[in-house]
Amino acid sequence: MKINILTLFPKMFVGFTGESIIKRAIENSILEINIIDIRDFAYDKHRQVDDTPFGGGAGMLMKAEPIIRALESLKNKGTVIYTSPQGEKLNQELSKELSTLEEITIIAGHYEGIDERVIENYVDREISIGDFVLTGGELPAMVIADSLIRLLPSVLGNQESFENDSFYNGLLDHPHYTRPAEFQGLKVPEVLLSGHHKNIELWRKKESLKRTYLRRPDLLENKELNKVEAKLLNEIKKEIQNLNLKEVKNER
Ligand code: SAH
Repeated sequence: MKINILTLFPKMFVGFTGESIIKRAIENSILEINIIDIRDFAYDKHRQVDDTPFGGGAGMLMKAEPIIRALESLKNKGTVIYTSPQGEKLNQELSKELSTLEEITIIAGHYEGIDERVIENYVDREISIGDFVLTGGELPAMVIADSLIRLLPSVLGNQESFENDSFYNGLLDHPHYTRPAEFQGLKVPEVLLSGHHKNIELWRKKESLKRTYLRRPDLLENKELNKVEAKLLNEIKKEIQNLNLKEVKNER
C-alpha cells in the first residue's frame, strides 16, 4: 500500500516512519509512505503557504494553490482524505475499509484549516479522529495511517494479533498478563496457567464480553452473538445481578 501525506511540517513524521512496526513494514516493502512538503509547491518569493481569510476574522488559512499543485504532482492519488474535525469519525470499520485500498493521499491542515475550494474539488473523504480540535492534521494523519497499516497483511507478526483486538469483532479485547505469574503478591488468573486451551479460550471470551457489557454496552446492540457467547453473556448478567444484590444487602 502507498500512503502520500501532504503537510507543512514533514519533520513531524520522522519518528512515525522511523520506528518499530511501521519502519519494519516500510523496509519489507509492504508499505510506502511518501511525505510531501506543501511548501515545495509555493512558488512565490516568500514561499507563502498561508494567508488571512477573506471576510476577515482571526487566524490564518492554508492557501489552495500549493496544496492543489502538490496533489497534481502525484502520479496517482488514490482516495484523497482531508483530516478535519468536521469529517466522519474514524473507527475500526473505516480503518478496515481504508486498509484495502492500494493508495491513499492524506492532507494535513494547519492553522484555521485549508481553503474550502480544495475540499470541494479534490477531497474524497473528510475524516475526524474525534470531537476535539488539534493544532494540525499531522497527528490525525498519523493516527489514520497507523490504524490501517497494522491491518495490512503480514505487518503484524501473526493474524491473531489484530483479530482479537478491541472492535475487530465488535467486542473489546480481554485482559492480558505476562511473566512473572506473581509479583508483589499480585497473581495472574489461575486458568491462564492451566495449559487448558479450551478453558482459556472460554475465559478470554467471557472477559471480553464482560468488558464490552460493562464499558461499551452500545457495541453489543449491533452484535450478533453465537450460542456460546449468548450463554456467557447471560452468566455475566446473572453474576453482576448477584453482586448488586449482595451490595444492597451489605448496605442495609
Ligand atoms: N477551524 C477548523 C479547525 C482547524 S484545526 C474547524 O473548526 O473545523 C487545524 C487543522 O487540524 C485542521 O485543518 C485539521 O486538518 C486538523 N484537525 C484538528 N482537529 C482535528 C480532528 N479532530 N480530526 C482530524 N483533523 C483535525
